[in-house]
Amino acid sequence: MRKPTSISIAQDAKDDTGMFVQFADGRTFREPIIILEGEKVERIRQGYTCIWCFEDVDAPFPKQCPVCTFPMADMQTRLFARFYMGIDVPLTSLEEKLAMLDEEEAREAYDARA
Ligand SMILES: [Zn+2]
Repeated sequence: MRKPTSISIAQDAKDDTGMFVQFADGRTFREPIIILEGEKVERIRQGYTCIWCFEDVDAPFPKQCPVCTFPMADMQTRLFARFYMGIDVPLTSLEEKLAMLDEEEAREAYDARA
């Protein structure tokens, strides 16, 4: 299997109240915070890059991603609209989100010891 193209995944949301995506076969995925270059975002918007594994594809919006089988034709545009936070998100907002995740992790670590 080819490796996905390079991305930055800041942190997965790990609590049970976080947003998630569920596929028809029952698999669920937490909503991660993902930081992408603007060019990559445009490729995803135009269907040339899988929104799920960030693999580049030859033709826009194939029925399924060749790497992760994500249904790009059916789901990519909808998922993009749902997940995209914009390129103008203030840095402080992102930092606050990351700080919240740090706190959650610390709390989970604490709960795990209890
Ligand atoms: Zn994919």
